[in-house]
Amino acid sequence: MSRLIVVSNRVTLPSGSGDGSVGGLAMALAAALREYSGLWFGWSGKTTPAFTGHLNLQRADGVTVATVDLEEVDLQEYYNGYANKTLWPLFHYRQDLTAYDRAFGEGYARVNRRFAETLAPLIEPDDLVWIHDYHLIPLARELRALGVQNRIGFFLHIPWPAHQLMVTLPGHRQLVESLFDYDLVGFQTPEHVQAFEEYVLTEAQGARVGREGLRAHGRTTRVGAFPIGIDAADFIRLAQSETAQRTYDVMKAHTAFRKLIVGVDRLDYSKGLEERFAGFERFLADNPDLRRETLMLQIAPLSRDSVEAYQEIRARLDSLSGRINGEYADIDWNPIRYVNKTYRRDELAGVYRAAQVGLVTPMRDGMNLVAKEFVAAQDPADPGVLVLSRFAGAADQLRQALIVNPNSPEEIAEALKRALAMDRSERIARWRVLHDNIVTEDVTAWRDAFVRALTGSRDALPGPGLAVHGEQAHPARDAPSRLYPDAQARGALPPMARWTGV
Ligand code: UDP
Repeated sequence: MSRLIVVSNRVTLPSGSGDGSVGGLAMALAAALREYSGLWFGWSGKTTPAFTGHLNLQRADGVTVATVDLEEVDLQEYYNGYANKTLWPLFHYRQDLTAYDRAFGEGYARVNRRFAETLAPLIEPDDLVWIHDYHLIPLARELRALGVQNRIGFFLHIPWPAHQLMVTLPGHRQLVESLFDYDLVGFQTPEHVQAFEEYVLTEAQGARVGREGLRAHGRTTRVGAFPIGIDAADFIRLAQSETAQRTYDVMKAHTAFRKLIVGVDRLDYSKGLEERFAGFERFLADNPDLRRETLMLQIAPLSRDSVEAYQEIRARLDSLSGRINGEYADIDWNPIRYVNKTYRRDELAGVYRAAQVGLVTPMRDGMNLVAKEFVAAQDPADPGVLVLSRFAGAADQLRQALIVNPNSPEEIAEALKRALAMDRSERIARWRVLHDNIVTEDVTAWRDAFVRALTGSRDALPGPGLAVHGEQAHPARDAPSRLYPDAQARGALPPMARWTGV
């Protein structure tokens, strides 16, 4: 069996303590690395005055980890710069926050080259290489330039933006062209696959979809949707842990007969926190009789503190929550409890279980694992209701949630009212379908589907929602084509040519 090499910007090792302090993704990748006796490569999180290329090798919990330090200027230009001030906002549809700085692009290219030069000597001929996320899009191109011929796959954890947004990025052509050095490119949802294909078919001359995949720039890559899941079994276990039970008891004692609405998000402008507060405010204004029966808890740990946009949103949220509390609070009740602390996942499980409503309303999100964790943590006999933004990748799978447009305070307010009034039988019926989904399409299914598709064996047919071009029915491909709707409606296009217009 081939070895698996996983590459990501940061490497998060499982602690083995079982308290859920490391996310399901890290656990799932670590488990795959143990099975494939593989290697995890990435940035150490440390900086040095000058780049040395020195590899720090460690073995932890059966996984070999190889990390490399970066220079301070790398960190500024590649990580804080191009990754977090250019690609992150643009791919989350915040063109207004997107910084286009030539030095950022150069730093991004330099670090990808440095990663490639450090990683290439570790790669053996049969290894499978799986590269993760927007920090490392050109890594395969750099590896190929060094003669690496292995199968290399890429998975994008964040959304792929619409064609017209993508073309606003200076250098978008080179960036997208570099994706054609991968054998397989995975996205979270069929919608992201469709946006990527639309970009390529419009922008790259002679591009077409064939049986082998998407062909452009003289190369063919396979493209597919692989919606990431959580480690559902582990999260269900966490929800029954002593810590979760203790947290649940504390929450119940503090909510004292009130219904709890909970949100848990990194403090990020993509998460729609201001819009969510506005939606809750609308709910309070429209429903005087329900006001004192509810309490909203928003947990929002700080992220990427050094980026100015985060400092601004923090100040705005402080003032917004203060204003809402000022307007509606009573001597014994504050409608919003807003905390910026980070909680362990077993504590979060207790919080989710104590809540009647999980309010997950990002403006854009690749997937949103909190939505899935909320479902996993519920009491099957008396589950809470998930209110979910249509712009979260998870909305494609979690259709029994109450789906809302986060731009509309009225829709959020209406959904809250409906969720709080929903009778137990409807809550149970909806929750069962959601629960089946998160258990079936969990992180292990995601990982195995991707690795199978990368190895390219014919038995690598993905399950529902995990379709790969060139292999079977594809939700994006088979949806009405926005490019050639008439031709498709007439059945004029052969199935695999629907996106080519031939
Ligand atoms: N999380 C956590 N502690 C917190 C807040 C969040 O461990 O205080 C975890 C949460 O359980 C989830 C992850 O952070 O697993 C957030 O993932 P998601 O996909 O929702 O959003 P992202 O932060 O990746 O954009």
